[in-house]
Amino acid sequence: MSYLPRTISNRTSAPVTIDEARCIADKGCTVCVDVCPLDLLAIDLTKGKAYMQFDECWYCMPCEKDCPTGAVKVDLPYLLR
Ligand code: SF4
Ligand code: SF4
Repeated sequence: MSYLPRTISNRTSAPVTIDEARCIADKGCTVCVDVCPLDLLAIDLTKGKAYMQFDECWYCMPCEKDCPTGAVKVDLPYLLR
């Protein structure tokens, strides 16, 4: 995404965050992992929660939209809102 300002590519927090209190991966949910076209999300098997394993998001949004509990939050860069 070369058109994005460097302040975005240099940020320190991941663009996708998981509210672990809401995530039900420990009950077998893998929806966000399954819908991400880039395989950026994964389930931490020791915690039983989803997390972002690679920070290369396309901001296509199905992970946030399809999560059954609303646990996924995609932090859209200002220029894409
Ligand atoms: S879709 Fe939501 S509840 Fe399911 S694993 Fe992902 S974050 Fe957790
Ligand atoms: S917004 Fe798209 S690319 Fe980014 S984590 Fe969600 S599904 Fe994957």
